[in-house]
This record gives sequence, structure tokens and C-alpha cells, in this order.
Amino acid sequence: MYVVRTSSKFYRSRLQHVLQTWISLASQHTYFVTDKLLPSVSHDHLILTDKICGQERHAMNTLCCKTAHDFKLFHRHLTNYDWFCHFDDDQYVNSRRLEEYLSTLDSNRPYYIGRNSWAKTLDRRKQPFPYSFWFATLGAGVCLSKPLVHLLQPYTQNIAQFVDGCLKENYHDDIYLGFLIFGYLNITLTKNYRFHSHLEKDFYNDKQKFLEIFNEQITFGFRLPNYCPVFLPNLYDSRSDRYRLRSMHCLLNPHIDECQMRMHK
Ligand code: UDP
Ligand code: MN
Repeated sequence: MYVVRTSSKFYRSRLQHVLQTWISLASQHTYFVTDKLLPSVSHDHLILTDKICGQERHAMNTLCCKTAHDFKLFHRHLTNYDWFCHFDDDQYVNSRRLEEYLSTLDSNRPYYIGRNSWAKTLDRRKQPFPYSFWFATLGAGVCLSKPLVHLLQPYTQNIAQFVDGCLKENYHDDIYLGFLIFGYLNITLTKNYRFHSHLEKDFYNDKQKFLEIFNEQITFGFRLPNYCPVFLPNLYDSRSDRYRLRSMHCLLNPHIDECQMRMHK
């Protein structure tokens, strides 16, 4: 299950680009947490947060409230899926590689998978659970196996409780999630360096290296001006492909009809 967090203020600048690309290959299994309806998405694939989460802001409580809605969707679909993944709207997901990778793991075991946000553990000194732990950045994508979503239920089923938890600990949503998973459940992060956010300075800097490895990567972050693969061949006009995502999508999925046309133009 793919859950994408977005906001109406990003529909044009971001969401349109991911709907056109990776989501078009995974739409049946993709759900949205957002504040306004989306014309191309059916109501049962979307959860609205506007009244409950308050003003749309990049604030700790707003984003924790949105993350709590991820879990509402996860719980609703607990019997339908083995894996539950969160993505931001400024990410491209190579769903084929993701599914390939997840299929190598035992989905009957609790798994917390993603890219560690910090180079070191967070060294927590206070009660409860005064231990060091790793947490994954939600901005690179995070996947949880069904048993883990199930084990997390007591801590995630109530939106207000989740938001209060973030505020009380003074943790952003991704840190709070890592804290719940390690503190309460003693499950540690399975790091995967093929997940990427737009916070990685070097990822798009080395063109040669990028071209060698991009096909194997699972997620990509994008942000203008420096965090997108602008050196890829431009298969679309730059105005309709500002992040060069459509071109990347075609290079990763050359079998798509539209891409075949573009590449042989
Ligand atoms: N976001 C949101 N409401 C807001 C601001 C951000 O839902 O008011 C979402 C946004 O769509 C994205 C995620 O939160 O999926 C992270 O936001 P952003 O990428 O702008 O921040 P950064 O990556 O710089 O922390
Ligand atoms: Mn971002």
C-alpha cells in the first residue's frame, strides 16, 4: 500500500508530476492524505485532514496529525496488504524496485524500513526509554510490514493521542515514529540506502555515478533547482517536466507505450 502525503498547495507544483509518472503505475494501490479533494482520485483512495489537522502548515502538530492519518488508512487496509509505505509528494518511487526488494523480506516479521535521517543515533536520555535509536526520514519514504502496523495499533489508532505524543516528546513525526517503534516495541530500523530524499546534497551532483546507479534506486527526492536529475535527456519540453521526472520515468520504464514514442522521436 502506497500512502502519499500532500497538500492542496502542492497539487500543481508537485503532485501533478508524481501522478503523471510513478503513481500512474501504482494507482490501484496508492492513497492520499491531504486537505482537499483531487479530481482524478476516487474518494476511497483519499483521506481529508483539513478540519482535524488545523491550518496547513509545516508545523510539528500539522505533520504529526497527517502522519496519524497514514495509520488510519493503514489500519483500514490491514488485511489487504503485507506492506505499508509512506511517501511525501516530492518523491519519485520506483515501484518495481520497491516491490522487488520487499519480496525478498519475510512480511510475517515486523519490519521498519527506510533511510536513516541522521548519520548517528538519536541519543535519548529521558524516561521513558532513555535509549539511543535510529529513525528513518519520512521524506525518503518509509515502509512497515503488516505485523509492525498491527503492533503499533495501540499507539497510532487515536489521532489526538498521536499528536499529543509528538508534542509531549517534542519530536517531529518521523522521529516520533522511530521512538514508538524502538521504545515500545524494541524493533530497530532496517536501513536502506536506495531510499533517497531531497535532503541528500550529493545525490544528483555526480552525473556519472547517478547514471550508473539510478535504475537500482527505490525512491528519489526532488526539489528545484539542485535536487533533480536535470542532466538526463529531455524527452519532454522543460515546462511540462520541470523536475525531469517524466524523462526519468521513461528511462526507468521504457516498455511504456508513451515512453517508446518519446524515446524514438
Ligand atoms: N506538507 C503538508 N502540509 C504542509 C506542508 C507540508 O502536508 O503544510 C507535506 C508535503 O506535502 C510533503 C511533506 O509534508 O509531503 C514534507 O513537506 P516539504 O517537502 O515541504 O518539507 P521538507 O521536506 O522540506 O521538510
Ligand atoms: Mn520534502
